Amino acid sequence: MSDYPHLLAPLDLGFTTLKNRVLMGSMHTGLEETKDWSRVARFYSERAAGGVALIVTGGMAPNREGGVFPMAAGLYSDEDIANHKTVTDAVHKAGGKIAMQILHAGRYAYGKECVSSSAVKSPISPFTPKELDEEGIEKQIQDFVTATLRARAAGYDGVEIMGSEGYFLNQFLVTHVNKRTDRWGGSYENRMRLPVEVVRRCREAVGSDFIIIYRLSMIDLVPNGSTHDEVVQLAQAIEAAGATIINTGIGWHEARIPTIATSVPRRAFAWVTKKLMGKVGIPVITSNRINTPDVAEEVLAEGCADMVSMARPFLADSAFVAKAIEGRADEIAPCIGCNQACLDHTFGGKISTCLVNPRACYETEIDLTRTDTPKTVAIVGAGPAGLSTAIAAAGRGHKVTVFDRADEIGGQLNMAKQVPGKEEFFGLVDWFGTMVEKTGVTLELGKEAGADDLAGFDEVVIATGVLPRDPEIPGQDGPNVLDYVDVLRGKAEIGEKVAVIGAGGIGFDVSEYLTQLGESPSVNLPEWMAEWGVGDPEETRGGLAAGGPKPEAAARKVTLLQRKNERLGKRLGKTTGWIHRAALKMKNVEMIGGVNYERIDGDGLHVSFGEARERPTLIEADTIVLCAGQVSDRSLADALSARGVSCHVIGGADVAAELDAKRAINQGTRLAAAL
Ligand code: NAP
Ligand code: SF4
Repeated sequence: MSDYPHLLAPLDLGFTTLKNRVLMGSMHTGLEETKDWSRVARFYSERAAGGVALIVTGGMAPNREGGVFPMAAGLYSDEDIANHKTVTDAVHKAGGKIAMQILHAGRYAYGKECVSSSAVKSPISPFTPKELDEEGIEKQIQDFVTATLRARAAGYDGVEIMGSEGYFLNQFLVTHVNKRTDRWGGSYENRMRLPVEVVRRCREAVGSDFIIIYRLSMIDLVPNGSTHDEVVQLAQAIEAAGATIINTGIGWHEARIPTIATSVPRRAFAWVTKKLMGKVGIPVITSNRINTPDVAEEVLAEGCADMVSMARPFLADSAFVAKAIEGRADEIAPCIGCNQACLDHTFGGKISTCLVNPRACYETEIDLTRTDTPKTVAIVGAGPAGLSTAIAAAGRGHKVTVFDRADEIGGQLNMAKQVPGKEEFFGLVDWFGTMVEKTGVTLELGKEAGADDLAGFDEVVIATGVLPRDPEIPGQDGPNVLDYVDVLRGKAEIGEKVAVIGAGGIGFDVSEYLTQLGESPSVNLPEWMAEWGVGDPEETRGGLAAGGPKPEAAARKVTLLQRKNERLGKRLGKTTGWIHRAALKMKNVEMIGGVNYERIDGDGLHVSFGEARERPTLIEADTIVLCAGQVSDRSLADALSARGVSCHVIGGADVAAELDAKRAINQGTRLAAAL
């Protein structure tokens, strides 16, 4: 019997059957906007071939005013229909099904033409929306209907009507935004009229044999959000209006509670969906931070939902479902919830991809098919750059040997996994270990490779990583000074009061590590909910806990410093930086920018401010931790080039600035494709 009997069971929708319980959730990748439709088709059809039952596309605007940004993709013309048809044909040919998401952003639309229930600006947009009149509302409904009909004409198996995350339809539901006094505002019956009417009219237009998913916000996580009773009332009305499936939306985009970041515990919101089970007759999907077949199976077996939605895991591995079916779940490249290459790219106007799988959305560019000319390849360094090169090259048929002076693989990833909220890195290192074994890579651990060891290989790859930068602060050789490596390896005594020098990703990580007392809330759901103030929508509107966040006390007094005179953490990930800042604030970490480091002595760290080195100040500290960035470790690369040996230098050994696992893995995978 399969390890995943619930996950792999078919789902009969009456007029059609889904082959398993896995939905690939909607993601805005930016691919559609490239207008390279063969590339879009390749992206989705690889996922369909990988066994997912139903794919939902990125959000397509039903009209210009509803586009998330000007020129957002949509189905505006017959030409658009033909383009989308190339995608649906490819998915069907690969044995899959695909629904188009209709996303009307309402007041989240980045443009002056945006519209909403009332003229109430959102805290995350510079534009105040225009309040729709009766005629305007009718136009929006009609545009949803037109989009649904065009989706059908383009060969889609269905649509998902986006009613959650604080977008247009959600904006009518809550008094936070809907201040109307006409038949679209006031009582809950009036406020839910628009979403119900949209579903009813789309169903009426499209007929009965077309999937309509409604994505419903089950916990808004904003003030004056919906209660659970209102959620049930809406879900029942949406069912009566003709929806086929109800999907779960968690939190508005303006919510100040993380909902999908890596520090959110796995399956953190499945209990919210479970509350709806048994209260509607149509299938219900749960979502958020489900990233392995085991977690998905557990959620379904516990009756939390009829189906699971996973989005980012399908960027990390297109063959997620096929591998689960074939008993190869340990080979599934894990989504670590980092957002670094997917959502951060989207918000930065770049095409999404995946930190773990740089081929995601670049399927037509990175070709990892087997080589006809196998070579011997030596790789020095078993960090993310070296490992990703190794498994991709070995997967192509090259004979690969990896050397590392450490006696374990993983490099800097082994430090990241010690940080509270970054437990997913354990799975990433384990996955690299599995793939090293399964692709037949030879590991030479505990071995400092020299030029002689590398002689005779066809290709030599140097992925020796980085060394901590020396900040040259007088007194830094004292016994009270550590670098981040000592701290995160857990090998050092650390005092009660700590000053952290450098507020990059690692300075923030070290501060979180030092302030956390005991178990990380990311592996303890009740504690995490208390820390961020998540309550039960049955007891409190929108699921905001009465009394707000109740973080655990900090383990230490930490002061985090940088020389730049700007907000600390400004350069962290676009979609996760605010979470790291909020987490440290909750632990009362003092953040100080614009300092000069004058000296360190037994009392702590002496700093001054500004070019004139004014305001001499002592930051009292028992321990000072250096997190001042890194420099490339090129010693081996330099030795080889002195001998005239050519080699490829990748990852941190190539460029330490802006080094991160995303760049390292991307560079390693692309090198392997070119070998
Ligand atoms: P970083 O991001 O480059 O930050 C280095 C910090 O050290 C900065 O705050 C910098 O600020 C300070 N600094 C630089 N030169 C200094 C000097 N000579 N003396 C004193 N301070 C100095 O490097 P990192 O924190 O080591 O992180 C390395 C990479 O890992 C990052 O690029 C990041 O992408 C990745 N990472 C990411 C995350 C994440 O959450 N996404 C987490 C961990 C690591 P001032 O120059 O203003 O003093
Ligand atoms: Fe997951 Fe990170 Fe990849 Fe995004 S970039 S899909 S969050 S692993």
